[in-house]
Amino acid sequence: MITSNLCTCCKRNQAFYFRLYSGERLCKRCFAASIEAKVRATLTHHHMLKFNDHLAVAVSGGKDSLSILHILSKLRRHRPQTKLTAVTVDEGIKGYRDEALTIAADSCKKLEVPHQVISFKGLYGFTLDEIVAKLHETGKSELTPCAYCGVLRRRAINIGARQVDASKIATGHTLDDEVQTVLMNFLRGDIARLAKEKPVTSEVHPLFVQKIKPFCKIPERESALYAYIKKINFQDTPCPYAGEALRNDIRNMLNRMEEKHAGTKFTVSRAIEKLRPAIEETIKREHFKTCRECGEPSSGDLCKTCEMLHLIR
Ligand code: SF4
Repeated sequence: MITSNLCTCCKRNQAFYFRLYSGERLCKRCFAASIEAKVRATLTHHHMLKFNDHLAVAVSGGKDSLSILHILSKLRRHRPQTKLTAVTVDEGIKGYRDEALTIAADSCKKLEVPHQVISFKGLYGFTLDEIVAKLHETGKSELTPCAYCGVLRRRAINIGARQVDASKIATGHTLDDEVQTVLMNFLRGDIARLAKEKPVTSEVHPLFVQKIKPFCKIPERESALYAYIKKINFQDTPCPYAGEALRNDIRNMLNRMEEKHAGTKFTVSRAIEKLRPAIEETIKREHFKTCRECGEPSSGDLCKTCEMLHLIR
Protein backbone atom coordinates (compact mmCIF):
# COMPACT_ATOMS: atom_id res chain seq x y z
CA MET A 1 0.00 0.00 0.00
CA ILE A 2 1.20 3.53 -0.77
CA THR A 3 1.56 5.04 2.69
CA SER A 4 1.34 8.58 1.31
CA ASN A 5 -2.36 7.97 0.62
CA LEU A 6 -3.07 7.19 4.21
CA CYS A 7 -4.84 9.64 6.48
CA THR A 8 -2.17 11.66 8.32
CA CYS A 9 -4.39 11.70 11.41
CA CYS A 10 -5.44 8.06 12.03
CA LYS A 11 -2.76 6.57 9.72
CA ARG A 12 -5.18 3.74 8.98
CA ASN A 13 -7.80 4.82 6.46
CA GLN A 14 -7.35 6.05 2.91
CA ALA A 15 -7.23 9.81 2.70
CA PHE A 16 -9.93 11.48 0.63
CA TYR A 17 -9.16 15.16 1.26
CA PHE A 18 -5.93 17.11 1.11
CA ARG A 19 -6.09 20.19 3.31
CA LEU A 20 -3.75 22.41 1.37
CA TYR A 21 -3.42 25.14 4.01
CA SER A 22 -2.27 22.74 6.73
CA GLY A 23 -0.69 19.91 4.71
CA GLU A 24 -3.01 17.31 6.30
CA ARG A 25 -4.39 14.39 4.30
CA LEU A 26 -7.60 13.20 5.93
CA CYS A 27 -9.99 10.27 5.70
CA LYS A 28 -13.71 11.02 5.90
CA ARG A 29 -13.96 10.13 9.55
CA CYS A 30 -10.97 12.24 10.66
CA PHE A 31 -12.07 15.11 8.43
CA ALA A 32 -15.55 15.25 10.04
CA ALA A 33 -14.00 14.91 13.51
CA SER A 34 -11.60 17.79 12.71
CA ILE A 35 -14.50 20.09 11.73
CA GLU A 36 -16.35 19.27 14.94
CA ALA A 37 -13.16 19.81 16.98
CA LYS A 38 -12.58 23.18 15.28
CA VAL A 39 -16.11 24.29 16.13
CA ARG A 40 -15.62 23.27 19.78
CA ALA A 41 -12.29 25.15 19.83
CA THR A 42 -13.94 28.28 18.35
CA LEU A 43 -16.75 28.12 20.91
CA THR A 44 -14.17 27.94 23.70
CA HIS A 45 -11.69 30.46 22.28
CA HIS A 46 -14.33 33.17 21.88
CA HIS A 47 -16.27 32.22 25.04
CA MET A 48 -19.34 31.82 22.88
CA LEU A 49 -21.43 29.62 25.15
CA LYS A 50 -22.63 29.71 28.71
CA PHE A 51 -23.63 26.32 30.09
CA ASN A 52 -27.35 27.10 30.05
CA ASP A 53 -27.64 29.10 26.85
CA HIS A 54 -30.70 28.76 24.65
CA LEU A 55 -29.45 29.08 21.08
CA ALA A 56 -31.65 30.20 18.23
CA VAL A 57 -29.87 28.64 15.26
CA ALA A 58 -30.51 30.60 12.08
CA VAL A 59 -31.30 27.83 9.59
CA SER A 60 -31.79 28.80 5.96
CA GLY A 61 -31.80 25.26 4.57
CA GLY A 62 -28.37 25.68 2.98
CA LYS A 63 -25.27 23.58 3.72
CA ASP A 64 -23.65 25.92 6.26
CA SER A 65 -26.63 26.47 8.51
CA LEU A 66 -27.64 22.80 8.46
CA SER A 67 -24.08 21.65 9.16
CA ILE A 68 -23.81 23.95 12.17
CA LEU A 69 -27.24 22.81 13.39
CA HIS A 70 -26.04 19.21 13.08
CA ILE A 71 -22.84 19.91 15.07
CA LEU A 72 -24.58 21.96 17.76
CA SER A 73 -27.22 19.29 18.21
CA LYS A 74 -24.40 16.75 18.74
CA LEU A 75 -22.86 19.05 21.30
CA ARG A 76 -26.04 18.90 23.37
CA ARG A 77 -25.06 15.38 24.42
CA HIS A 78 -22.20 16.83 26.46
CA ARG A 79 -24.04 20.01 27.39
CA PRO A 80 -27.52 18.87 28.38
CA GLN A 81 -28.40 22.35 29.69
CA THR A 82 -27.86 23.92 26.27
CA LYS A 83 -31.16 24.35 24.46
CA LEU A 84 -31.55 24.74 20.69
CA THR A 85 -34.34 26.14 18.54
CA ALA A 86 -33.96 26.52 14.80
CA VAL A 87 -35.28 29.78 13.35
CA THR A 88 -35.95 30.01 9.61
CA VAL A 89 -36.86 33.22 7.87
CA ASP A 90 -39.36 32.87 5.04
CA GLU A 91 -38.58 35.88 2.86
CA GLY A 92 -41.29 34.90 0.40
CA ILE A 93 -39.26 33.94 -2.67
CA LYS A 94 -41.50 31.82 -4.85
CA GLY A 95 -40.06 28.52 -6.07
CA TYR A 96 -36.98 28.87 -3.84
CA ARG A 97 -37.74 29.38 -0.19
CA ASP A 98 -40.53 26.76 -0.15
CA GLU A 99 -38.02 23.98 -0.89
CA ALA A 100 -35.59 25.30 1.74
CA LEU A 101 -38.37 25.44 4.35
CA THR A 102 -39.22 21.77 3.78
CA ILE A 103 -35.55 20.74 3.99
CA ALA A 104 -35.03 22.77 7.17
CA ALA A 105 -38.18 21.34 8.77
CA ASP A 106 -37.14 17.74 7.91
CA SER A 107 -33.66 18.22 9.41
CA CYS A 108 -35.07 19.73 12.58
CA LYS A 109 -37.45 16.81 12.94
CA LYS A 110 -34.60 14.31 12.51
CA LEU A 111 -32.39 16.14 15.02
CA GLU A 112 -35.29 16.72 17.42
CA VAL A 113 -34.81 20.47 17.39
CA PRO A 114 -37.90 22.71 17.64
CA HIS A 115 -38.39 24.81 14.53
CA GLN A 116 -39.77 28.34 14.33
CA VAL A 117 -40.57 30.02 11.00
CA ILE A 118 -40.88 33.77 10.77
CA SER A 119 -42.00 35.43 7.56
CA PHE A 120 -41.42 38.80 5.89
CA LYS A 121 -45.12 38.85 5.02
CA GLY A 122 -46.14 38.45 8.66
CA LEU A 123 -43.61 40.98 9.95
CA TYR A 124 -43.55 43.64 7.26
CA GLY A 125 -46.70 43.02 5.22
CA PHE A 126 -44.73 42.17 2.05
CA THR A 127 -42.93 39.13 0.71
CA LEU A 128 -39.51 39.76 -0.89
CA ASP A 129 -41.10 39.03 -4.29
CA GLU A 130 -43.65 41.79 -3.61
CA ILE A 131 -40.91 44.17 -2.49
CA VAL A 132 -38.94 43.52 -5.69
CA ALA A 133 -42.09 44.11 -7.80
CA LYS A 134 -42.73 47.39 -5.93
CA LEU A 135 -39.13 48.49 -6.46
CA HIS A 136 -39.54 47.95 -10.20
CA GLU A 137 -42.93 49.69 -10.24
CA THR A 138 -41.91 52.77 -8.31
CA GLY A 139 -38.26 52.97 -9.38
CA LYS A 140 -37.76 54.78 -6.06
CA SER A 141 -34.79 52.83 -4.83
CA GLU A 142 -31.43 51.95 -6.30
CA LEU A 143 -31.08 49.17 -3.75
CA THR A 144 -30.82 45.54 -4.87
CA PRO A 145 -33.12 42.74 -3.59
CA CYS A 146 -30.16 41.46 -1.53
CA ALA A 147 -29.73 44.86 0.15
CA TYR A 148 -33.39 44.76 1.23
CA CYS A 149 -33.28 41.11 2.11
CA GLY A 150 -30.14 41.46 4.25
CA VAL A 151 -31.56 44.23 6.43
CA LEU A 152 -35.05 42.72 6.76
CA ARG A 153 -33.71 39.23 7.43
CA ARG A 154 -31.33 40.37 10.18
CA ARG A 155 -34.26 42.05 11.88
CA ALA A 156 -36.48 38.98 11.39
CA ILE A 157 -33.92 36.60 12.91
CA ASN A 158 -33.51 38.89 15.90
CA ILE A 159 -37.29 39.05 16.42
CA GLY A 160 -37.58 35.26 15.88
CA ALA A 161 -34.90 34.66 18.51
CA ARG A 162 -36.73 36.88 20.98
CA GLN A 163 -40.02 35.10 20.26
CA VAL A 164 -38.52 31.76 21.30
CA ASP A 165 -36.79 33.39 24.27
CA ALA A 166 -33.28 32.54 23.07
CA SER A 167 -30.24 33.97 24.84
CA LYS A 168 -28.08 33.88 21.69
CA ILE A 169 -28.33 33.48 17.92
CA ALA A 170 -25.93 31.03 16.25
CA THR A 171 -25.34 31.52 12.54
CA GLY A 172 -23.59 29.38 9.93
CA HIS A 173 -21.27 32.15 8.66
CA THR A 174 -18.12 30.49 7.39
CA LEU A 175 -14.54 31.73 7.14
CA ASP A 176 -15.29 32.71 3.52
CA ASP A 177 -18.34 34.79 4.52
CA GLU A 178 -16.37 36.52 7.24
CA VAL A 179 -13.34 37.35 5.11
CA GLN A 180 -15.51 38.52 2.19
CA THR A 181 -17.36 40.84 4.57
CA VAL A 182 -14.08 42.23 5.94
CA LEU A 183 -12.85 43.09 2.46
CA MET A 184 -16.24 44.49 1.40
CA ASN A 185 -16.24 46.82 4.40
CA PHE A 186 -12.68 47.89 3.61
CA LEU A 187 -13.56 48.62 0.00
CA ARG A 188 -16.65 50.57 1.04
CA GLY A 189 -14.64 52.41 3.68
CA ASP A 190 -17.13 51.27 6.33
CA ILE A 191 -14.73 51.08 9.26
CA ALA A 192 -17.46 51.03 11.92
CA ARG A 193 -18.92 47.87 10.40
CA LEU A 194 -15.45 46.37 10.21
CA ALA A 195 -15.28 46.57 13.99
CA LYS A 196 -18.87 45.42 14.49
CA GLU A 197 -18.76 42.22 12.43
CA LYS A 198 -17.04 39.75 14.71
CA PRO A 199 -17.38 36.15 15.95
CA VAL A 200 -19.40 37.29 18.98
CA THR A 201 -21.33 40.55 18.64
CA SER A 202 -21.24 43.13 21.42
CA GLU A 203 -24.29 43.64 23.57
CA VAL A 204 -25.27 47.13 22.45
CA HIS A 205 -29.03 47.17 23.04
CA PRO A 206 -31.30 45.04 25.24
CA LEU A 207 -33.50 44.16 22.22
CA PHE A 208 -30.54 42.80 20.23
CA VAL A 209 -29.95 39.11 20.85
CA GLN A 210 -26.20 38.44 20.88
CA LYS A 211 -24.92 36.62 17.78
CA ILE A 212 -22.25 33.93 17.69
CA LYS A 213 -20.56 32.44 14.62
CA PRO A 214 -19.15 29.01 15.55
CA PHE A 215 -18.27 28.29 11.88
CA CYS A 216 -16.11 31.40 11.44
CA LYS A 217 -12.91 29.32 11.11
CA ILE A 218 -14.38 26.73 8.72
CA PRO A 219 -13.79 27.35 5.00
CA GLU A 220 -16.98 27.14 2.97
CA ARG A 221 -15.59 24.26 0.95
CA GLU A 222 -15.10 22.23 4.13
CA SER A 223 -18.59 23.06 5.35
CA ALA A 224 -19.92 21.58 2.08
CA LEU A 225 -17.72 18.50 2.45
CA TYR A 226 -18.90 18.01 6.02
CA ALA A 227 -22.54 18.12 4.86
CA TYR A 228 -21.72 15.61 2.12
CA ILE A 229 -19.95 13.17 4.49
CA LYS A 230 -22.71 13.41 7.07
CA LYS A 231 -25.34 12.95 4.34
CA ILE A 232 -27.04 16.17 5.32
CA ASN A 233 -29.73 17.07 2.83
CA PHE A 234 -29.48 20.76 1.94
CA GLN A 235 -30.75 23.13 -0.69
CA ASP A 236 -28.14 23.81 -3.35
CA THR A 237 -30.17 25.77 -5.90
CA PRO A 238 -29.16 29.41 -5.78
CA CYS A 239 -31.58 32.15 -4.86
CA PRO A 240 -33.01 33.77 -8.03
CA TYR A 241 -32.00 37.20 -6.71
CA ALA A 242 -28.43 36.18 -5.80
CA GLY A 243 -25.80 38.40 -7.28
CA GLU A 244 -24.38 40.99 -4.91
CA ALA A 245 -21.78 42.23 -7.40
CA LEU A 246 -19.07 43.34 -4.98
CA ARG A 247 -19.27 40.19 -2.86
CA ASN A 248 -19.07 38.00 -5.97
CA ASP A 249 -15.95 39.81 -7.18
CA ILE A 250 -14.33 39.49 -3.76
CA ARG A 251 -15.30 35.81 -3.49
CA ASN A 252 -13.69 35.06 -6.87
CA MET A 253 -10.57 37.05 -6.03
CA LEU A 254 -10.16 35.34 -2.64
CA ASN A 255 -10.64 31.89 -4.17
CA ARG A 256 -7.96 32.63 -6.76
CA MET A 257 -5.61 33.87 -4.04
CA GLU A 258 -6.32 30.80 -1.92
CA GLU A 259 -5.45 28.54 -4.85
CA LYS A 260 -2.14 30.30 -5.39
CA HIS A 261 -1.32 31.05 -1.75
CA ALA A 262 -2.98 28.49 0.50
CA GLY A 263 -4.06 29.95 3.83
CA THR A 264 -4.82 33.46 2.52
CA LYS A 265 -8.33 33.45 4.01
CA PHE A 266 -7.03 32.49 7.46
CA THR A 267 -4.36 35.19 7.20
CA VAL A 268 -6.97 37.89 6.52
CA SER A 269 -9.14 36.56 9.35
CA ARG A 270 -6.24 36.60 11.84
CA ALA A 271 -5.15 40.05 10.70
CA ILE A 272 -8.58 41.57 11.31
CA GLU A 273 -8.80 39.89 14.71
CA LYS A 274 -5.55 41.59 15.70
CA LEU A 275 -6.61 44.94 14.26
CA ARG A 276 -10.16 45.00 15.60
CA PRO A 277 -9.41 46.21 19.16
CA ALA A 278 -7.43 49.15 17.74
CA ILE A 279 -10.25 49.98 15.29
CA GLU A 280 -12.79 49.80 18.12
CA GLU A 281 -10.71 52.31 20.06
CA THR A 282 -10.68 54.81 17.22
CA ILE A 283 -14.32 54.77 16.15
CA LYS A 284 -17.02 56.52 18.04
CA ARG A 285 -19.11 53.90 19.76
CA GLU A 286 -22.54 53.81 18.18
CA HIS A 287 -25.28 54.56 20.68
CA PHE A 288 -28.40 52.71 19.78
CA LYS A 289 -31.70 54.46 20.19
CA THR A 290 -35.23 53.18 19.67
CA CYS A 291 -36.89 53.59 16.27
CA ARG A 292 -39.76 56.06 16.58
CA GLU A 293 -41.97 53.89 14.35
CA CYS A 294 -41.39 50.25 15.19
CA GLY A 295 -39.69 50.46 18.58
CA GLU A 296 -36.76 48.28 17.51
CA PRO A 297 -33.09 49.28 18.07
CA SER A 298 -31.85 51.91 15.65
CA SER A 299 -28.80 54.08 15.14
CA GLY A 300 -31.00 57.02 14.09
CA ASP A 301 -34.55 58.15 14.91
CA LEU A 302 -35.86 55.93 12.13
CA CYS A 303 -34.36 52.45 11.70
CA LYS A 304 -33.04 51.14 8.39
CA THR A 305 -35.93 48.64 8.10
CA CYS A 306 -38.61 51.35 8.40
CA GLU A 307 -36.62 53.59 6.04
CA MET A 308 -36.60 50.82 3.42
CA LEU A 309 -40.28 49.99 3.87
CA HIS A 310 -41.18 53.66 3.40
CA LEU A 311 -39.62 53.55 -0.05
CA ILE A 312 -42.02 50.87 -1.24
CA ARG A 313 -45.22 52.00 0.47
FE1 SF4 B 1 -31.82 37.27 0.16
FE2 SF4 B 1 -30.00 37.91 -1.70
FE3 SF4 B 1 -29.64 35.78 -0.13
FE4 SF4 B 1 -31.55 35.75 -2.00
S1 SF4 B 1 -29.32 35.87 -2.33
S2 SF4 B 1 -31.77 35.04 0.11
S3 SF4 B 1 -32.23 37.88 -1.94
S4 SF4 B 1 -29.69 37.94 0.52
